[in-house]
Amino acid sequence: MNLETTATVQTLLSTPKKIVITGHKNPDGDAIGSCLGLYFFLKANGHDAQVIMPNDFPDFLKWLPGIDTLIIHEKEVEKSTERIENADLIFTLDFNALNRVGDLQPLLEKSTAKFIMIDHHQQPDAYAVATYSDVRMSSTCEMVYHFIDALGGNQQISKAIATLLYTGIMTDTGSFRFSSTTPVTHKVIAHLLEAGANNAAIHQNVYDTNSPDRMRLLGVALKNLQIFPEYKTAFITLSQKELDTHNFKKGDTEGFVNYALSVKGVRFAVIFIENKQESIVKISLRSKGDFSVNEFSRKHYNGGGHTNAAGGRSLQSLNKTITHFISILPDYTEELNDDA
Ligand code: 5GP
Ligand code: MN
Repeated sequence: MNLETTATVQTLLSTPKKIVITGHKNPDGDAIGSCLGLYFFLKANGHDAQVIMPNDFPDFLKWLPGIDTLIIHEKEVEKSTERIENADLIFTLDFNALNRVGDLQPLLEKSTAKFIMIDHHQQPDAYAVATYSDVRMSSTCEMVYHFIDALGGNQQISKAIATLLYTGIMTDTGSFRFSSTTPVTHKVIAHLLEAGANNAAIHQNVYDTNSPDRMRLLGVALKNLQIFPEYKTAFITLSQKELDTHNFKKGDTEGFVNYALSVKGVRFAVIFIENKQESIVKISLRSKGDFSVNEFSRKHYNGGGHTNAAGGRSLQSLNKTITHFISILPDYTEELNDDA
């Protein structure tokens, strides 16, 4: 965090404030970990803080410290509206534009509170009085660590904060394997372990809680895998019917797209998941190397994210979405075969 941003934040936090901390719709480990990690730090420093998420999140994150304090807007609209209307300060974490927060968007746009952004996505919007944005960062959790450190709070990293930040760094880096993982990331992790994060327990809580239904749904996803060697591309589809047959629960498809990306030679992988309730197809895109799924998703799926991980949506049927995807692949022949 640069000196100017640090100074602005220090001034804003120099007296006790009513604070709302919020993350993106369909919050993941990094969104929840960073928001709750910051929550514990602000509480310990005399602020009245509250984490509000737009909607619910997967069960494999429900063991996290402080999870019971969190308000899910979709479930408690009045309570969340009141907190937002009375907030002096609003932290927006792990997203780069107010259209990423679902039904919270109008409330945030109406708010007269001052905004502070902490985020690692590309092309951040400029709505905050203090913007700590760094696309080279592995995760927003790593940034919250640096944020606390810049405010002189390094010794205040409790076991709860360490557990939360470890979890988000772990989930956003694919367990420390993506190229966004730096020597500094590992130094931060080392300190989080010293501060009490239990790495084995965290990995187990997040990754070893599969239901039999989820494992069978993965089987279906893998059967549906299509590979296009000429474009170094693979994709997976899941229809609403296939989800229903396997009692789909939020989070069940997390990580499935990585199986497509793990096929030898593949550098562009996509999963298309039908969502009849929202009348959309939710799309997750992953890549290896220079091929930017952020750009691809911005162009075709009204989405975005990072160079190697992005999301978006299609308003067409699952079939049409897939036909369209296959039809545009030839446009990317060169880029996808541009040998590294
Ligand atoms: P996922 O595919 O796991 O949902 O998301 C991958 C990355 O892209 C995450 O960093 C996520 O925040 C971002 N992302 C997912 N969906 C969207 C979207 O609809 N719009 C934008 N701008 N980013 C998204
Ligand atoms: Mn993140």
